[in-house]
Amino acid sequence: MKNYSIKELRNALDTKEVSSVEVFEHFKSEIETHDHKINSFITKTYDQALAQAQKADEAIAKGEQTMLTGIPIAHKDLYCTKGVKTTAASKMLENFVSPYDATVVEKLDQSGVMVLGKVNMDEFAMGGTNRTSHFGTVHNPWNFDHVAGGSSGGSAAAVSAGFVLAATASDTGGSTRQPASFCNLTGIKATYGRISRWGMIPFACSFDQAGVIAKTAEDCAYMFESMAGFDAKDSTSHNISVPKYSGLLNQSIDGLRIGIPKEFLSPDLDPAIADVIQTALKQYEAMGATLVEVTLPNTDVVVPVYYTIAPAEASSNLACFDGVRYGYRCDDPKDLQDLYMRSRAEGFGDEVKKRIFMGTYALSASAYDAYYVKAQKVRRLVANDYNSVLSQVDVIMGPTAPELPFRQDSTGSTQVYLSDIFTVGANLAGLPAMSIPAGFVNGLPVGLQIIGRAFDEAKILNVAHAYQRETDWHTKQPKFD
Ligand code: GLN
Repeated sequence: MKNYSIKELRNALDTKEVSSVEVFEHFKSEIETHDHKINSFITKTYDQALAQAQKADEAIAKGEQTMLTGIPIAHKDLYCTKGVKTTAASKMLENFVSPYDATVVEKLDQSGVMVLGKVNMDEFAMGGTNRTSHFGTVHNPWNFDHVAGGSSGGSAAAVSAGFVLAATASDTGGSTRQPASFCNLTGIKATYGRISRWGMIPFACSFDQAGVIAKTAEDCAYMFESMAGFDAKDSTSHNISVPKYSGLLNQSIDGLRIGIPKEFLSPDLDPAIADVIQTALKQYEAMGATLVEVTLPNTDVVVPVYYTIAPAEASSNLACFDGVRYGYRCDDPKDLQDLYMRSRAEGFGDEVKKRIFMGTYALSASAYDAYYVKAQKVRRLVANDYNSVLSQVDVIMGPTAPELPFRQDSTGSTQVYLSDIFTVGANLAGLPAMSIPAGFVNGLPVGLQIIGRAFDEAKILNVAHAYQRETDWHTKQPKFD
């Protein structure tokens, strides 16, 4: 059952081959048997999941099910869940219980999903390894010595290990696509404004978007149909209709124009990763697509631009965690100053503190024009580059990450920052983007990235699905004891 796609499990539930309660027992037992080796869950919500499973069985008996009724999922631990801890993987929020549900959580609940728990992530979604979590690193089910990626490492590992069939994720600079790539999964981030950010703990508000990680593009389509849509509670939410993505998956891709940025397949790219990507592109050609070389000339500056603006926004977002209004409070403060200083010093981890320093500096009076304003101007240039390429081609493709999943013991956050080079562009421009399984190098997965026009998630899902009908990379599962 753990190898099923959502569609396959839907079929098994609807034909009464299994009940939702049996599905619950199966996935609970998988988590209990194996997650101690992977560390994907921060909080398990079995009581709630069992109640949802019973409700799902009643709905199925009455013929009132939706596509997601009784489907086991998990939420990244930055989606607020009423009555269940939401930690953002930080000591600062270790005991935080939200009084309300995030819009995404509410919408998925309404579709009848069974939520098995809240999954691990980099602290406040800052990172690409899941090693910055207060709750420990996540192990990649393909090889425990390697990371599952980040920041949605728990979401990816939980789906990859067969603990759930899909998990919510978020993507500020690649956090849905990179872990999906590292775990041989399909991950999609929405266009900025497509999915409500209400109830998502913010990292950098002008980049943050919801995402989902599942096995197939089709499963991502089912999840997105339920998650997307206008929400008056999010002032950046767009009021445009949401297509039925799953109904648009079988369009022909004959004549599709695929832009390949020459900066994404440069001679510097690891030749083994380049080979996997070239093979995938040839497959698209064989399916009738045309490959067009394009240029994204500012690719060399996307990482510094992102790591100037995102920490600036983070430093402002995290100012509310002061031990008074929100979050962890230190023991026995001497005075107010001591309370602020020690609560923040003890509550935040090193990576988060580093970003607060970088961001506060970029916003300081002496550095604001030289760094923050400059970065905002270059952000506009990057967005213009992407949009101008996408006016000539239907989608952009390339590798999701320039590296294989990092070893758990590899050092240095600068290397991890640099490896965001192919993903952050879509966030700077607010575009929808995916990663799909494309092959393996040394037994470790490699993802192909697909970037689309704003609000054209339907196209990238269709393009991904077309590939998954012709290839079987997405069906490969890790084997571990
Ligand atoms: N790796 C990037 C960072 O550390 C992206 C994180 C994200 O998308 N949340 O900021």
